[in-house]
Amino acid sequence: MSRQTIRTVCPRNCYCTCGMLATVEDGRLVSIEGDPENPATAGELCLKGLSYVERVSHEDRLTAPLRRNRKGALEVVSWDDALDGIVAALWAIRRESGPLAALHYEGSGSHGALSGLAEGFWTPFGGCTRAHGDLCWPAGLEATRLTYGANRHNHPTSTRDSRFILLWGHNPAETNIHQWRLVLEAQKRGATIAVVDPRSTDSTDAADLHLQP
Ligand code: SF4
Repeated sequence: MSRQTIRTVCPRNCYCTCGMLATVEDGRLVSIEGDPENPATAGELCLKGLSYVERVSHEDRLTAPLRRNRKGALEVVSWDDALDGIVAALWAIRRESGPLAALHYEGSGSHGALSGLAEGFWTPFGGCTRAHGDLCWPAGLEATRLTYGANRHNHPTSTRDSRFILLWGHNPAETNIHQWRLVLEAQKRGATIAVVDPRSTDSTDAADLHLQP
């Protein structure tokens, strides 16, 4: 039996990019642990990252293209059939309405090598309509700009040097575990943690002050 542990990172579309130690036995993923040597994520993984062992071998995992048939049900088709169907639909749209009738939309998680490939895909098609920004990172940047006047942030680790932390409708104990570690460090150093939230959460439980409108 071959067994090895591989140092890697979580591949989800998530800015944490948590360090992982993935153990593979005979080519099969058998366990995932947080990498304690990653200074940013310090061995912590959320449930989504931890669930990879179950996800990669789950019976419901998609392993082939699915196409909706005329009765509305999804059916398995070959990759060739799926790609031929996409090509036929794109050419039909271009013929009937021109290339700008095709909308290319991508999230910020795909702003890597694959994003560059998209340019090469659409150029010979004659172009396409593209969205300005997306619902993920650019939406957050815009909210920051409108709130603070500019996209400027402190370094995340400087959170531990804060003397007062106000979490407004925010529950990092459950939704931002790496930030929460820094918040708790600040609290140990004497910072006051206040949370504004109508709900009771793990964050409000640990806070010094819970403002519950
Ligand atoms: S927080 Fe969760 S989803 Fe995000 S990178 Fe870490 S393990 Fe993955």
